Amino acid sequence: MISVAEAVKIIKNESFSLAAETINSDESIGRVLAEEIRADMDLPPFNRSQMDGFAVRTKDVEEASEKNPVKLKIIGEAVAGKGFDRKIKKDEATRIMTGARVPDGADAVQKKELTRQLLSENGESFVEIFEAARFKQNIINQAEEIEKGAKIFDKGEIINTQMIAPLASFGYAKVKVFKKPRVAILATGSEIVAINKKPKKDQIRNSNSITLKILAEKYGAESKVLPIVGDDISNLKSQISETIENCDVLLISGGVSVGDYDFTKPVLRELGAKIFFEKVSLRPGKPTVFAKLNDKLIFGLPGNPVSVAVTFFLFVRAALLKMQAAKDCELKKGFAVAAKEIKGAKERDSYLPVRVETASDGKLVVESLRFSGSSNFIAFSRANALVFVPKGESYNQGSVVEIAFL
Ligand code: AMP
Ligand code: MG
Repeated sequence: MISVAEAVKIIKNESFSLAAETINSDESIGRVLAEEIRADMDLPPFNRSQMDGFAVRTKDVEEASEKNPVKLKIIGEAVAGKGFDRKIKKDEATRIMTGARVPDGADAVQKKELTRQLLSENGESFVEIFEAARFKQNIINQAEEIEKGAKIFDKGEIINTQMIAPLASFGYAKVKVFKKPRVAILATGSEIVAINKKPKKDQIRNSNSITLKILAEKYGAESKVLPIVGDDISNLKSQISETIENCDVLLISGGVSVGDYDFTKPVLRELGAKIFFEKVSLRPGKPTVFAKLNDKLIFGLPGNPVSVAVTFFLFVRAALLKMQAAKDCELKKGFAVAAKEIKGAKERDSYLPVRVETASDGKLVVESLRFSGSSNFIAFSRANALVFVPKGESYNQGSVVEIAFL
């Protein structure tokens, strides 16, 4: 029985890389960058005012106070999108708006609330400044945020919603990403019916296909859900051999254990697939199968909904991200404190679904979920992490434990 780490290593080794393609940035969430993202301009592109107020020379307003305001002549205005192109000289100021270019000569912006505009005298307007201004006050210098040419994101980063504004700001209406792995999803089991059907006696609904579809798509894949196949060797065989032609990864749920009607492995062998492993030191998810047929990856996942989710997160996710050349293919790890005792298993490493929350003392705390075996997917629906318990171990309340965030 191999460890999870060994299994992940094998999967990553066997995952081939996909080509790149250019797509619209508004459809790029969850995709992996196939190019470096660089700033094509300075930001800000000019010395920018952060406030509505008056562009001034600090020297002129050094002595300004509420009692003795300094009076400056207003010689124009700098608006966002249309700056003021003359230089400000001694005892002069311009009105300035947030986002506008600061005129030459000015070295500070005093905010509007600390000024008072006076009525014009013979066609000239003046402003009173009630407080001295610091050098560069309320001004963000050109290139202070980022310099033209600087790298912002690396190849291999997964695009998330927070990355969209930088992409847009530097003109990436389109972005180069790795192609989507094409994932086919096959639920097996004679007791399984579609979710829009009322299960008859002895039947249950298919929750695995939709779960796998959503998870695969979340990690950049495109997916195709196949019709449910009963526990029937010949149907299973023809469905697999037909599907494998048109996908990169085939996910089969169910039928991987030692039951008399578990046909996934025998069928894979009959089709000539190379099986890399079929047993992992893992609870839940021990009978996970990883194979290859015609160079395509095949995962046989144990049918229990919790096993399906856990093995997806540990194994399938790594394969999908590796195929897209992602920098980080594995779940983000961390540490937290056990709120209650956490029991491991004797013969297998456990990766138990848990809920992690921050406590008022600032610690991350692991609340175990009712894990009454791998079928408790109702409890699993609250999970946001897996806690790792090595075989033969248990953790007392208060122990620091290793977790992986889902
Ligand atoms: P198996 O891996 O085929 O032995 O199935 C293990 C358990 O998971 C059984 O109780 C199955 O009924 C259940 N199961 C298998 N496939 C699905 C599915 N697609 N949706 C929900 N439960 C399933
Ligand atoms: Mg079954």
